[in-house]
Amino acid sequence: MYPICRSITGAGVGATLDILDRFVPLSRIHVPSGQRVFDWQVPKEWNIRDAYVKNSAGERVVDFRQHTLHVVSYSTPIRARMSLADLKPHLFSLPDHPDWIPYRTSYYRDNWGFCLTHRALQALVDEEYEVLIDSTLEPGALTMAEFFLPGESADEVIIYTHICHPSLCNDNLSSIAVAIFLAQALRGRARTLSYRFVFAPATIGAIAWLSLNESRVERIKHGFVLASLGDSGRFVYKRSRRGDAEIDRAVEYLLTHDAIGSCEDFSPYGYDERQFCSPGFNLPVGRLTRTPNGRYPEYHTSADDLQFISPAALAESLRVCERICDLLEHNRVYLNVAPKCEPRLGSRGLYSNTGGKNPSEFEHALLWVLNQSDGNHDLLNIAVKSRIDFRVISDAARALMEAGLLRVVQMRARGEK
Ligand code: ZN
Repeated sequence: MYPICRSITGAGVGATLDILDRFVPLSRIHVPSGQRVFDWQVPKEWNIRDAYVKNSAGERVVDFRQHTLHVVSYSTPIRARMSLADLKPHLFSLPDHPDWIPYRTSYYRDNWGFCLTHRALQALVDEEYEVLIDSTLEPGALTMAEFFLPGESADEVIIYTHICHPSLCNDNLSSIAVAIFLAQALRGRARTLSYRFVFAPATIGAIAWLSLNESRVERIKHGFVLASLGDSGRFVYKRSRRGDAEIDRAVEYLLTHDAIGSCEDFSPYGYDERQFCSPGFNLPVGRLTRTPNGRYPEYHTSADDLQFISPAALAESLRVCERICDLLEHNRVYLNVAPKCEPRLGSRGLYSNTGGKNPSEFEHALLWVLNQSDGNHDLLNIAVKSRIDFRVISDAARALMEAGLLRVVQMRARGEK
């Protein structure tokens, strides 16, 4: 997917979805140019075939075929000859990183431009240049795709990934890959919850998706936006606007328990959690990244390439996503049906009768689950309080259910909306 020129619309998005389709069958949604989506309007579709700046010797000194970042995304078409002075306002480089090409866009303002290394910019001499951007901006559509995995319950987990960036790896091919492999993994499992994966352009895609699905967002019980999951940084989870949603508590628990990352409070800047957490929706949707946007020098430059990400980082990101889903699947609120004094566990085959020196972790977990299951604490809450691994707490709850000592209650844990 790396060489494909993607943008918020255009053939690059379709070509990318064609590749993803080989892994899980996607259903595509096309929103026509001009359609109003809340305060926005779907833009014209942008397509590009070629672009270059040629010097007087006819050599391509900036060449779109060499790197998709060379053209400002959504550049209007141009074919002209001009002096270096006239060309310069349309050239963008990074003086602090003279060998990197910046990533620039001009989605909602008609403009054209080229991005190049600062070294290449400085090498341009004062002569006449031939400039071509063979692009089109025409009525078309914005395309996004979904993969839906039904569970026993209609309650949904939404997993949203932006697909509009061209040749940039961490942002966001990394998360597209993690999302696809997560979808494949969940597909082969029994599921209580339903999962909806959305692959769409940033900002306008999320706005369009919410606009089309406004009447159905009640089903979203948990969600997370995935971005920048391939770099070597520790995980950073940005809480939903609610701050105390089950997804917020779940991810915080996993990152802290394994000491692999940290959490931040919501802020209205970043990726598409901004739309899901706008006050009119206020959905329980957080964001999982490694190093967040703007906090690494390679961000939005050609240095965010295949060398910047690693298979090991991607694999660990996938594992964390699987564990988040696993936790959401198993988190419940139970009620102890024999709450007056401790029930006898030994007679039910749940407790070791051999009188060892210390009860096992599992036996501790049984006691914690029985004690806290008053309808106000979910298993996650008990795992945090007891410092026992959630999976052991969950196994203990299952054993107590099977022994008839617990029943599931629908009441959410305290602090839940
Ligand atoms: Zn980005």
